[in-house]
Amino acid sequence: LNSNKEQMNLADKEFENTIRPKELDDFSGQPQLVENLIIFIKAAKIRGEALDHILFHGPPGLGKTTLSRIIANELGVNIKETSGPVIEKPGDLAGLLTNLEPNDVLFIDEIHRLSTVVEEYLYAAMEDFRIDIMIDSGPNARSIQLNINPFTLVGATTRSGLLTAPLLSRFGIKSRLEYYPATTLQKIIKRSAIILNVPITEEAAFEIARRSRGTPRIANGLLRRVRDFAQVLNDGKIDIGITQHALKALNVDEFGLDEMDNRILLTIIEKFKGGPVGITTIATAVGEEAGTIEEVYEPFLIQEGFLQRTPRGREVTAKAYQHLGKHRPKGKQP
Ligand code: ADP
Repeated sequence: LNSNKEQMNLADKEFENTIRPKELDDFSGQPQLVENLIIFIKAAKIRGEALDHILFHGPPGLGKTTLSRIIANELGVNIKETSGPVIEKPGDLAGLLTNLEPNDVLFIDEIHRLSTVVEEYLYAAMEDFRIDIMIDSGPNARSIQLNINPFTLVGATTRSGLLTAPLLSRFGIKSRLEYYPATTLQKIIKRSAIILNVPITEEAAFEIARRSRGTPRIANGLLRRVRDFAQVLNDGKIDIGITQHALKALNVDEFGLDEMDNRILLTIIEKFKGGPVGITTIATAVGEEAGTIEEVYEPFLIQEGFLQRTPRGREVTAKAYQHLGKHRPKGKQP
């Protein structure tokens, strides 16, 4: 099971949309962020102005797209959705921007993947709601300035480290989405189960929750798979027994770690004696970008106590050895 949107098929996306909360009231967790958004949305509505530009950053599946749609919904405006790699040239962006109604939301997913020219074109639009348009061609070619309706850009990225300073500085609100505690995921799973019309016990919901890598997308995905087992083997009821059976059959890690998490830990143990080892060395060994390890994988491993950062690099903990069933050399720190 994957938390990455790019690897999802159409059926997965449709499933996701059916259970996606549409109002802030149905959005669980991220309390600090939600509290702030309530204020910002109210203030923008009172003034009748566009909400400030917002950047959501954090690992995949934590609710960046969901929040963007909720914001538009709560503001009572339209949302246009696109993504960094889709906008190939300034003209594509101009087309989007000139079609926005006052105070609409433009959502750009994977905003770190905008090309440099498109990004620079975006600056004036964000700052002054103004764009340059080329008219005519050949010797008569000239650019004119065009005013566009005020809008809110909501950018989402898993890799905020790749954003340039000028782009970052144009977002009035920057917020990092955090991994969800199991109790919050349990609540999300129970809500999804109601929408899917499957009965689930508290205990079963918690079991799925604690093995979902702190990620709502994974939690909902697991619920969907466990439901299959329940329908075939347990009269459609999701209890702890069928949940444990299903999660075992699906090979879901006891702590919710995914394949890359485990590969990172195993590599540090087997190739680097448990560390400390530098992030770029780890990246080369596991075949993933150092930045992605730093922003997507490592935060969860550190939060859950499998990995620690030391001045000399990353080091796995006793918990990691234990989890992977590896013998820990004597003389290691805890
Ligand atoms: P991202 O854009 O960060 O990759 P999404 O917003 O697409 O993640 O969320 C993935 C799935 O998880 C959606 O189906 C959504 O319903 C669910 N989800 C995410 N955050 C929450 C939340 N706080 N409460 C309930 N469901 C959530």
